[in-house]
Amino acid sequence: MNRSENGSVPRSKQERIDVVPDYDYLFAETTTKKGKKKNGFFGKIAKMNFCPLLFSSLLYIFQTAPVWLMPLVTADVIDAVTRAVGGAITAQQALKAVGIDALIITIAILQNEPVTLLRTVLTSKMLRRTGAGIKSCVVRKLQSLSVTYAKDMETGRIQAKFLKDTDAVDGLFSCLVNTIIPNIISAVIATVIALSKNGVVALFFLCVVPFNVALSRLFSKKIRKRYRELREHTESMSSRLATMLEMLTVTKAHGLEQTEISAVNSSISGVANAGKKVDLTGARFGSWAWCLNTFLSAACMVFCAVLAVRGKISVGDIVLYQTMFVSLSGYVSTLVNVLPTLGSGFDALSSVSGIMSVKDVEMNIGKRSVPSISGDVEFKNVCYKYPGSEEYIIKNLSLKVKAGECIAVVGASGSGKSTIMNLVIGFLTPVSGSVLIDGKPLSECNLSEYRHHISVVPQNSILFSGSIRDNITYGLSRYTEEELSRAMELADLAEVVKSMPYGVDSDVGEHGDKLSGGQKQRVTIARALIRNPAILIFDEATSALDNISEYHVQKAISSCVAGRTTFIVAHRLSTIRGADRIIVMDKGECVEEGTYEELMAKKGKFFELKNLNDVNAKAAEEALA
Ligand code: ADP
Ligand code: MG
Repeated sequence: MNRSENGSVPRSKQERIDVVPDYDYLFAETTTKKGKKKNGFFGKIAKMNFCPLLFSSLLYIFQTAPVWLMPLVTADVIDAVTRAVGGAITAQQALKAVGIDALIITIAILQNEPVTLLRTVLTSKMLRRTGAGIKSCVVRKLQSLSVTYAKDMETGRIQAKFLKDTDAVDGLFSCLVNTIIPNIISAVIATVIALSKNGVVALFFLCVVPFNVALSRLFSKKIRKRYRELREHTESMSSRLATMLEMLTVTKAHGLEQTEISAVNSSISGVANAGKKVDLTGARFGSWAWCLNTFLSAACMVFCAVLAVRGKISVGDIVLYQTMFVSLSGYVSTLVNVLPTLGSGFDALSSVSGIMSVKDVEMNIGKRSVPSISGDVEFKNVCYKYPGSEEYIIKNLSLKVKAGECIAVVGASGSGKSTIMNLVIGFLTPVSGSVLIDGKPLSECNLSEYRHHISVVPQNSILFSGSIRDNITYGLSRYTEEELSRAMELADLAEVVKSMPYGVDSDVGEHGDKLSGGQKQRVTIARALIRNPAILIFDEATSALDNISEYHVQKAISSCVAGRTTFIVAHRLSTIRGADRIIVMDKGECVEEGTYEELMAKKGKFFELKNLNDVNAKAAEEALA
């Protein structure tokens, strides 16, 4: 291919498909009059592409003209020759008829190439656009899912759905364009030609359809079932494989390779067996259809022969009908044979519709825009329980945080600290009560815009393969080198980066594996800081670190609290001395609130936690010594 210097295809040669239309509507189920749930995929997609479909169908008639003209011309030639031989017409008349036939077929052949090209351009654009549209609407849906739902999804399964099922849905449309419509047109042309010649034989033609439809109905349920089983097995395998890859180091460390291999093998053989069943059912159906149509075709030939002997039709017409009948049964059996493809396509459609119909999405459209925030956060009688659970995890929490305040949240594991943070981020919505940001309920705000003003540093830093720079500036369209250096300086990362061979452009490895825990965490802090957020959240940011790393990360945290509302969830209580206020949580309730000194003097829950913390720290130190 002729490529320009930057590697892209020259503009004139390509018409990019980058307009991705909205295809959500394709996946919505509608209820029929009888109360049955139906998708009506073909109707919807035909409506969406009405003009190109109509035009490409017309072109198809021209494209296939040689095929349906050939039997007519052949019959005409045979009749002219037999009549000349029998003396009914002169040799010259016969040759003239043959000449006209030759001209007709030559014109039909010559127009085929340009028409085929034109039709391909038209259908290819329509199909590719649809394929891209379907994939893009699944991606949009995945991005709109709530965090709670997204967390429960198995990545491998979703990947399989995205790659295979969207293709299969796209395949349904392609099947409509390339197989169903053309074969219906051809079958109709064959029947119309037969009807125009002789009504009795044409009636014979019409029998083909009900026989084939009856056969396909007999098999369709089973074929769909088989395809569904195959898809489910494939998704399980994909999900199992994703888990295997994630656990690879753990597996090796415990010498469990064989166990893993047999577990994945059982998934693989599940897919193979399901595939075998699909093949068998498809083959049985195919051979039944073939036998039926061949039998009908033989019967048609005998019928025509009887009519010819009785002088009802000419010899040429036997050839015409026989060729037409063979073609017709070919078209009908092709139509019937796409049934397996349709089976897998409809199954994939229901699988993709499954994702598309998830209601657990964040609705941001039409919500209050959040161009900036000052950082006041208020919890007003907030209660929260996780879906499907009876127990309230947050019980009637009320808390006012002024912009710029640094709040530490402490409490035993499971007391609801992370839940509070997720309520601030808007990942979770209170069951009752409300979270207010700058005095306005968070539930009324556009969460996506709101989150531009907050940054979160979780316990486990999430890095991706790429450089330190890529990881820090993730998702930023613009930033200056000064901003990057300042974020690294504040995150206590500058020294580390300087010592690396490629500086800030050094590769961090997959999931950041080339960095230490503390370094990873500081990259995450720099990522949070470069966004200059009004609200900054640290959820046990230092819990997984050793003392030295913790010291560095702690230093980083202290240097970035100034000028913004900060929430620090801390495990080690010595690290939160500097907080303006400490909130002590116990079983979802705020049991104490005050400065470090106040709470220590009070000798209550915090004092108790702190002592326990110190004893544990000492015991750990002694154990290590
Ligand atoms: P903390 O951060 O204080 O350790 P969390 O806020 O993470 O505690 O969790 C509080 C409680 O909520 C725990 O008992 C935990 O089991 C429960 N919990 C957390 N996440 C979920 C969830 N997605 N579904 C159900 N229960 C959950
Ligand atoms: Mg937590």
